[in-house]
Parts: sequence; C-alpha cells; structure tokens
Amino acid sequence: MPIAEFDVIARYFTQAFPKRTDVILGIGDDAALCTVPAGMQLAIAVDTLVEGVHFPRTTCAQDMGYKALAVNLSDMAAMGATPAWMTLALTCPQTDGAWLKGFTQGLLELAKLYQVSLMGGDTTCGPLTITIQIAGFVPPDGALQRCGAQQGDGIYVTGTLGDAGLGLASIQKQVILPSQTQQFVESRLNRPTPRVAEGQALRGIASSAIDISDGLAADLGHILEASGVGASLQLEKLPLSRALIKHLSPEKAWLMALSAGDDYELCFTVPHQKEVALQKALPNYTRIGIIESSPGLRCLDAQGQLFRFEKTGYQHF
Ligand code: ADP
Ligand code: MG
Repeated sequence: MPIAEFDVIARYFTQAFPKRTDVILGIGDDAALCTVPAGMQLAIAVDTLVEGVHFPRTTCAQDMGYKALAVNLSDMAAMGATPAWMTLALTCPQTDGAWLKGFTQGLLELAKLYQVSLMGGDTTCGPLTITIQIAGFVPPDGALQRCGAQQGDGIYVTGTLGDAGLGLASIQKQVILPSQTQQFVESRLNRPTPRVAEGQALRGIASSAIDISDGLAADLGHILEASGVGASLQLEKLPLSRALIKHLSPEKAWLMALSAGDDYELCFTVPHQKEVALQKALPNYTRIGIIESSPGLRCLDAQGQLFRFEKTGYQHF
C-alpha cells in the first residue's frame, strides 16, 4: 500500500529528529526559519546520492540514510564547520513503509549524534535519489579552505585509506574476503565516519583541507590546484588497514588508497610552525608527504622511484 506524500512527511520526517532552539520554524511551511548564532558564518553544502551511481542497488535502506548524511557531515568536517541543520530532497520510485522506516533510522543515527535538525525538504516520485543540504557554523576566518597550502607544509590524513574501495570490490565480488574483513570494509563503504570533531580541531592549524570522496590523488589534486602548488607523497607512509595490507599487494593497496573513492577521511596541510599545535589538537593522524612549489603530484615508493598510475578518482561525466 503506497503511503501518500503528506503522510510520508508526517510519519517519518516531522517528529523524530533533534529539536534545536535556533530553528524558529521547521517542517510544515513553505520554508524553514532559523537563526545563525551571533558572529558566526554559515557553511552550506549539498550532496546527492543516486542509486546505481553512488551506491549499489543492494545497499540496505538504513545504510543509505546513514551514508546520505555522513557524506554531508564530511563536507562540514572538511570546512571545519559545526553542523546544525539539514533539508532532505527524497525522490523514490514508491513509498514503501519498510524502506522509509529503515532509511529514517539510518539518517536519525547520525542526526542525533551530531544534533542536526531536519528543517524541511521535498518528497517526489522517480528513480531513487537522495539529496541532503546541510548547514553549519564557522567563526569568521575559521573555515578550512582548499587554497591555503604552501611550500613546505606537511600533508596529513585521518584514518586509513582505500577501505571503501576494497568494500566496493568485495560487494562486486571482485575479491573474496573472510567474513569479518568483508564486514569491516563494507561498513567503511556504507557507513563512513565523518571527521567532524577533527575538522573543528584543525581550525587555525591546517592551511588547507578537503574530504576524500573521490580518492586521495584526485582530492589532494584539488588542494594543489586551488593553492597553486605541487606535492610529493611517500607511498609507504599511506595509512592502510590490516584488511588492505593482508589482502592486497603493496602496489594494489596504494592504488586503492590513491584512487578509490568514498573513504571520507580528511586530507589537510599544516605549516611547520603549527606541528606542535597539531599534535595537541588531534589524537590520530598520519603524515604522508610534503607540499612543494613545483606543480603536480609525485607519488614515490620506498626507493624514491616514481609510482605511475592511471585512474585519478571517479568522474561523473
Ligand atoms: P511545498 O509545496 O511548499 O514545496 P511540500 O508540500 O513539498 O511544500 O512540503 C510540505 C512541508 O514538508 C514543507 O515544509 C517541506 O519542507 C516539508 N518536507 C517535504 N518533504 C520533506 C522531506 N523529505 N524531509 C523533510 N521535510 C520535508
Ligand atoms: Mg515541495
């Protein structure tokens, strides 16, 4: 039995989400009204997940809800912003109660964790497409941008790289993994950890930052381009999980870390004089290379030999 549009909104999207005092008017009118805290700037981002493009058709509803918000929170993290509000544009082929329940549960998990309220949205019929727009706060001059990297800055990442890529390969049956490893890498793909606290802690310390959605090489490439610099990476320094080390050759693991998307770790640069501040600000991170004046990205193996690889991130068109 299909559920009518307004019943979907009332049943799944109106009640359960965190309430915030800065939301003056939420779901139910033509637009939401909210108050930005005095002296703060608004950081706004939007990300769409399309079935068959951003996630396989087999992904469960709960993971879709979780990931749709995780990727948006990751954009807030990459800006050093504190997430606060979101809107949801949901296009689905039918209004299936079990699917909507699972989807909302996944979405709620992260919304509650980060106290993000759902201020409004749109519900339409069509191929499954989930768009979340998120807004958060940053102090003036506090935002982490892509354009500030300078020669001599260290290049760092959070977490481990390439797990989501191995997760996708596992789902597509290109590799067969032991069940625990399979669970780990598939959960890294379906339930990425947005590095929100890390992003905020890097305010005033990182000279540039980006979240890794399209693969390290492509996303670091955006920093390099925006900053007008180049970089060298030491491949043996790339943080790899035991799953990658155990199940892939070093070259394949590097390739996965460099060019597979969906990790949602942060890549950031820090000037030499801020390294002590960095140590105090973040418990876990890995230094992987250095910013250089000469443009381009050079990936070097332990012998200092250039590692050549083809693929540089997912391209939609
Ligand atoms: P309008 O006709 O003004 O576009 P809608 O009928 O689309 O309004 O939506 C009615 C209310 O429900 C609005 O406040 C809208 O923001 C909210 N809404 C619709 N879809 C969603 C959704 N998927 N998630 C959250 N709020 C929604
Ligand atoms: Mg509408």
